[in-house]
Amino acid sequence: MTEGLLANRDPALVRAAIRTRRKGPRELALLLSPGADPLLEEIACEAHAATLRHFGRTVQMYAPLYVSNRGVGRGPYCGFRGDQRIERVSLTLDETVAEGQAISRLGIRHLLLVSGDAPGDVDPPYLAAAARALKDGAFDSVSVEVVPLDDAGYRTLAEGGAVDGVTLYQETYDAARYASLHAAGPKADYAFRLDALDRAGAAGMRTLTVGALWGLSPWREEAFALGLHAADLSRRWWRSRVQLGVPRLKNVPAGFEIPHPVDDRTLAHVVGALRLYAEEVGIVLSTREPPRLRDALLPFGITQMSAGSRTRPGSYTKGDAGGEQFKVVDDRRPAEVASALRARGYDPVWKDWDRGFTEL
Ligand code: SF4
Repeated sequence: MTEGLLANRDPALVRAAIRTRRKGPRELALLLSPGADPLLEEIACEAHAATLRHFGRTVQMYAPLYVSNRGVGRGPYCGFRGDQRIERVSLTLDETVAEGQAISRLGIRHLLLVSGDAPGDVDPPYLAAAARALKDGAFDSVSVEVVPLDDAGYRTLAEGGAVDGVTLYQETYDAARYASLHAAGPKADYAFRLDALDRAGAAGMRTLTVGALWGLSPWREEAFALGLHAADLSRRWWRSRVQLGVPRLKNVPAGFEIPHPVDDRTLAHVVGALRLYAEEVGIVLSTREPPRLRDALLPFGITQMSAGSRTRPGSYTKGDAGGEQFKVVDDRRPAEVASALRARGYDPVWKDWDRGFTEL
């Protein structure tokens, strides 16, 4: 019934949904329906007001630190997939700390440790040790974006407050399409991936970040499922901060054609609709997107941005030499991103969490 509303073509129903104070799945479906396509400005206005209400004019800054580009998976759109001819690197603990020191010199205080599926190299004890070492240095929080773990794995990460957050994108919520993309290998279990952030929440992670890869499946259905997933996590893990990411597939390996490309306007529509539905959920935007679009999407509800990103292990200390997971399109330095935010009336937040809070 609710999903039928995703096909609505009547803008009047969408206007009523925009005005509804407590929005549920019905309103989300209408906000994502074709009837909402001509109302992008109205969605933007309301999304901006909702963002100001809950987040003010603040945008948290972070950077990714890639610890491994090893991949045995066969995700056909991933730069790390097992059959790509790239130099494979997994950083030692010391190398990871050195990368962290280089990132901290850019002013960044929040870090996201990222890895391909590197069995044997990057496991929970390694990630927890890396997070502890980085937080003994300059960082206030360390999150991870790695393969889904079991309960014990997330407990190891969370032990003693080592890792603060988990980012895990479902990639597509269409189970049949997911199965066709990941027929075998570490990603084949759709349900294990879908439930991973619940396991992370149960382990006590402070931040849970969920998302889809835009371009794999039709965007209205994907955004609807993502909104419900984020709202469900917020309800269940109310002590955690829930965020969602909106990465678009771009520059995929040769031979893979993006089945449902998402244009800039559609991405803005997705961000605005999700902001209106899940007002208190943070929205993260990466450097995959160009500066002009990143700046333009701010009022739609963006609350966290990466800056100064490098997407190959070791590249903050040694420079890029191929083997990146994706091409960084916004290559401004963090200070430049911060100036652009200030010029638009936003406050870049380098630190929004003190480790002492976890010890209270
Ligand atoms: S998407 Fe993940 S699992 Fe698949 S190849 Fe890339 S890193 Fe490996």
